[in-house]
Amino acid sequence: MTATEPMMIDCGPHGKRVSAVVCRHLVQRDPAPCGFVENNGDPHDLQAWCHRCEETFQLEGGMTDAFKQYNGMAIVCVVCYDESTARHTIPVTE
Ligand SMILES: [Zn+2]
Ligand SMILES: [Zn+2]
Repeated sequence: MTATEPMMIDCGPHGKRVSAVVCRHLVQRDPAPCGFVENNGDPHDLQAWCHRCEETFQLEGGMTDAFKQYNGMAIVCVVCYDESTARHTIPVTE
């Protein structure tokens, strides 16, 4: 249970939905998956970025301007978020 109201977004194809935050790479429909790192799994406040963003975050040591510029945060709806998860999750192979 969260006390805060979820942020809503009017996503064209999906209508009015709860919003989520992803990096700009995840919203691109690249054929190659760029990895999916979930930072916040709260259904009212989903946040994720790709593997390169995770690397950059580690290198920069936090939310620096350089990182933010590379990340380019994009607000999407939860349905788009789920689609990004499916598109960009790299299957784990042993
Ligand atoms: Zn990224
Ligand atoms: Zn959407």
